[in-house]
Amino acid sequence: MSEQTRYILNESDLPRRWYNILADSPVKPAPVLNPQTLEPVTPDVLSVIFPMNLIEQEVSLDRYIDIPEEVREIYKLWRPTPLIRAHRLEKVLGTPAHIYFKNESVSPSGSHKPNTAVPQAYYNKVAGVKAMTTETGAGQWGSALSMACNFFGMGLEVYMVRASHDLKPYRRILMQSYGAEVFASPTNLTDCGRAVLTQDPDCPGSLGIAISEAVEVAVKSGGLKKYGLGSVLNHVMIHQSVIGEEALKQMDLAGEYPDVVIGCVGGGSNFSGIAYPFLRENLKNGQRTRLVAVEPDAVPSLTQGVYTFDYGDTAKMAPVVKMHTLGHTFVPPSIHAGGLRYHGMAPSLSALYDAGLIQAVAVPQNATFDAALLFARTEGILPAPESAHAIRTAIDEALDAKEKGEKRVILFNLSGHGHFDLASYQMYLSGSLQDYALPAETIKASLSDLPEISL
Ligand SMILES: *Cc1c(COP(=O)(O)O)cnc(C)c1O
Repeated sequence: MSEQTRYILNESDLPRRWYNILADSPVKPAPVLNPQTLEPVTPDVLSVIFPMNLIEQEVSLDRYIDIPEEVREIYKLWRPTPLIRAHRLEKVLGTPAHIYFKNESVSPSGSHKPNTAVPQAYYNKVAGVKAMTTETGAGQWGSALSMACNFFGMGLEVYMVRASHDLKPYRRILMQSYGAEVFASPTNLTDCGRAVLTQDPDCPGSLGIAISEAVEVAVKSGGLKKYGLGSVLNHVMIHQSVIGEEALKQMDLAGEYPDVVIGCVGGGSNFSGIAYPFLRENLKNGQRTRLVAVEPDAVPSLTQGVYTFDYGDTAKMAPVVKMHTLGHTFVPPSIHAGGLRYHGMAPSLSALYDAGLIQAVAVPQNATFDAALLFARTEGILPAPESAHAIRTAIDEALDAKEKGEKRVILFNLSGHGHFDLASYQMYLSGSLQDYALPAETIKASLSDLPEISL
């Protein structure tokens, strides 16, 4: 068995096409609904928010989609990303398991998000859009889209969840350095922001509210501005498939094949990015890799949410989709420091989970930060708190393999680094992080305002 540590691909190995799970998924996607009429949405309604070229990708059932050369050229700034065997972590755990991770933290903005930010900016530019609008929570998506819009000479307005805006000033400065305009959401610049502030002037914001603001600005711009979303949508899952396609080649270089593939889930994009190409191998080539999505127990949309139609945002402006959701009025507990705060989940992932083709676990936050520090102290990289959820589960798999005396090949996605998340690490190191599993009553309350759909 090879004792190599880094598995590096050449620039020429950079994928030439993205993979679309909808071509192979045995579960067909539910229709996307117009939030006003609750009838299936028509492309002209979606085209107020998104350019037509991305809407075509969103509904595409093609198995592979060519990556435009302009996008591949920018991907080459950091892709292919390394696959790393975590020998030092294995040793400390004393496990017979082999642990590999795909290092998406090497992108210029520090996460997997530029994999979709760059093509989204490209397709908007090609469609003649002048500026984009978006929301950001922890700031990773806003940073990635700021970089991408700048590359294509487009403006960007970022509505940043106020709690993160105040806790993470350095992310805001990074976005501004790339040339974006950043607003703490809720703002008094939009109808929905003003409505929230009237009810609660100290509202810490939520992704759902910030999405409403960014969508409202795009809708009212008369076609000059379009909105970009960093997760959840099919076209985002498609763009992220470069992660898993590269990882397949790299596992081949390592002469192994994963028994389990693990990723954290907020809206589902980095997990889908690494997992869907392996799911294709399960569905078409008889592999039997377990695919495990990891969420915080404070925001348990897969393990505790319901699979139903819900709005993508708080103000009911974004389309209604069928997904695992905690309800569009959900506001995550402010004690939760680990990201992954969105109330819903990618429809494709929700459907696959519902069909039993994907597994999910929820983990508490102190155990997640324990795993993050063990990883930093063995492998040297301080992970994003989001990514630490995947690390927690990878370690649990490795310990389970040790207990059972099994050799197990574990692959997880390191979705980003934590260099801008030091305020959360500070809370952990000072002992002030509390575990907070979301109480059943809270879930019930936030699920009380779902749209009634008779489909
Ligand atoms: C945004 C983000 C996530 C969560 O989003 P997904 O769409 O579920 O991938 C996870 N990790 C990092 C580092 C992120 O920036």
